[in-house]
Amino acid sequence: MSNAPVRNVVIVGSGPAGLTAAIYAARANLAPLCIEGFSAGGLIPGGQLMFTTEVENYPGFPEKVTGQELMQRFRDQAVHQGAELVTADATKVDLSKRPFEITYGDDAERVLAKTVIIATGARANYIGLPSEETLKNKGVSACAVCDGALFRGEPVAVVGGGDTAMEEATYLAGLCSKVTLIHRRDEFRASRSMQDRVKANPKIEILYSSAVVEVKDVALDHVTAIVVEDLKTKTRREVPISALFVAIGHTPLSDLFAGQIELHANGYIKTTPGTTQTSLAGVFAAGDVQDWTFRQAITAAGSGCMAALEAERFLAAEGAH
Ligand code: NAP
Repeated sequence: MSNAPVRNVVIVGSGPAGLTAAIYAARANLAPLCIEGFSAGGLIPGGQLMFTTEVENYPGFPEKVTGQELMQRFRDQAVHQGAELVTADATKVDLSKRPFEITYGDDAERVLAKTVIIATGARANYIGLPSEETLKNKGVSACAVCDGALFRGEPVAVVGGGDTAMEEATYLAGLCSKVTLIHRRDEFRASRSMQDRVKANPKIEILYSSAVVEVKDVALDHVTAIVVEDLKTKTRREVPISALFVAIGHTPLSDLFAGQIELHANGYIKTTPGTTQTSLAGVFAAGDVQDWTFRQAITAAGSGCMAALEAERFLAAEGAH
């Protein structure tokens, strides 16, 4: 039998959802432990906002705030309210028995939890070009709503053929001088209505059966152009742009929970609509790991708040707190 400590609430993840859950759970006297996790592919906690530049749409910050500063403020507030944070990745989660067991960090520390709030988020998919990697946040972005306004009046490009690419292209066409939309096939997978809106927009030029093979200019340390290959003719051309928006899907970080709670076919965690309740009592999911539609810091924070309140009610109903 494990002699690991038992917590009322263990939160996995430290983006806006996880840290908002930590703030609310701490204020409810639940003494939550937040296993921060290193942001997808990075070396730092704080979620996807750590990789954005300026955040201009988070209410309460009219003077703009960087993604890093915003997350530092979330974190400070969680600590100030009494949440305990550990900077480590959760490596194993056992939801087969209660209390649930979570293993984390290099030393495989274990903690038991009466409730778990999953807020592990999602990772944007990128094309995988070295030049794309170097120019991330220097004109390469995976979020038009976050970064589009930085390129107002300038030409930009979007890669992808799904609903997100259509949405981003349409959004950017309202801000930028021109949008070049690049898709690898000769038909989009996006819904017909969203495709039609893109095709009817005179500011959007569509390059079908094409791939971005290089982002320029690494030497200048910002985006000046992309090299696009026509996949049918194999010819290449340079398209001058100030920013490249990659909209080729996200990957939810739900692997730790697969097989233990229900996931949608696309890997996102299933929650009961209008709640953060997963298929397992006492386990809640908030933020991007369960939301592929809105994916905003403010909506993630809102669902993190919901998860903490639901965890508190669950514990109260069980007489466990
Ligand atoms: P998605 O539907 O998976 O589409 C991804 C697109 O990226 C596809 O067109 C795919 O091409 C392309 N792609 C994938 N890997 C690529 C690569 N390595 N290089 C170049 N292109 C690549 O993802 P999404 O558009 O983010 O949408 C995700 C989900 O959210 C969908 O269910 C969507 O309906 C939903 N969504 C809904 C709304 C809305 O209703 N308002 C808005 C946004 C998203 P192929 O087509 O060739 O596979």
